[in-house]
Amino acid sequence: STQSLPKTMHGVQVSKTGGPEVLEYKTDLPTPTLLAGELLIRNSIIGINYIDTYFRTGLYPSPKPEILGREAAGEVVALGPSGVEGFKEGDRVVWMGNGGYAEYTAAPAAKTLKVPDGISSEDACAAILQGLTAITLVEEAHKVESGDWVLVLAATGGVGGWLCQILRAKGAHTIGTVGSEAKVEEAKRLGAEVVVVEEQGRVEEVVKEKTGGLGVRAVFDGVGKATFERSLELVARKGTVVSFGNASGAVEPFSISKLSAKNVKVARPSLYNYIYTRGEYEKYADELFRLMTDEKFDVRTHKTYPLKDVAQAHQDIESRKTMGKLLLSP
Ligand code: NDP
Repeated sequence: STQSLPKTMHGVQVSKTGGPEVLEYKTDLPTPTLLAGELLIRNSIIGINYIDTYFRTGLYPSPKPEILGREAAGEVVALGPSGVEGFKEGDRVVWMGNGGYAEYTAAPAAKTLKVPDGISSEDACAAILQGLTAITLVEEAHKVESGDWVLVLAATGGVGGWLCQILRAKGAHTIGTVGSEAKVEEAKRLGAEVVVVEEQGRVEEVVKEKTGGLGVRAVFDGVGKATFERSLELVARKGTVVSFGNASGAVEPFSISKLSAKNVKVARPSLYNYIYTRGEYEKYADELFRLMTDEKFDVRTHKTYPLKDVAQAHQDIESRKTMGKLLLSP
């Protein structure tokens, strides 16, 4: 490398599972060394995703100590020994991988993209993981058609906000749920035709009323444990429940024989398996960048927190107070 890099860096490490208090800000973490296929990125902006809380609590097991964080944007400052074709020092990039809550990350070149001119690094980082999730859910987990009625839970959340905007563009009719009255207007602005506040208990009634008692073609359910059974009840005959997350806890085991009552499909996808190949990743990222530039989709940032305040950010996303993307400034 032509640049001299510091031997240590600041970042946030988790040594044991637990609440937000296990997120430890450190100033003496080793700057990562590179393996084949890796790029060293100096992160300028880092994304928070709900999944970060699963690795923190242990809902998703992972080796500790660990630097959490699945995405960031920044500058390529060094190239691994091989498998990094197409990248050079100075490239402005966005990446998905592991170890994002830090000044530097060894990011997989296969999951790194040059940020197109006309898109800021902040927007690229805020969009990549949640935006790709929403696009692949409506293209692959359940192919939404114009005119379909669909139900989106947590409609103003990171993924939820992308879903609402994409579904509106597709000509679908979205019923969105939100956790509080304060989120209703935002869900409507994003494209939900009908918005229901969860605690008011009217979700079943509204779905029946809007669909003539038939139910929705698809439910996009990232809430999990608290809502999965209800999602099965609200989906139409031959419809799909797309269960893609666990914000309220993991879905309990259920009997597949239940599905025959309406010939329902249940999908439990991970983004990673939809963007496994470079071709899949580039195809969907190109579509996301097109939505951001040509279609003027709104990349909604809730707040950018200093990296040392990451515990507050985790507390905020878990307390259902946020709408849109939480970012960290290294
Ligand atoms: P969000 O910004 O959507 O935050 C989570 C939201 O879930 C909250 O704002 C809240 O909205 C809602 N919620 C409902 N019940 C609870 C609860 N008991 N505790 C906490 N929140 C609750 O986060 P993300 O956009 O990052 O992720 C949304 C979901 O998508 C998560 O489940 C995540 O794991 C999943 N996901 C899955 C991926 C995959 O590959 N399968 C990829 C990316 C995300 P409200 O108060 O309005 O109900």
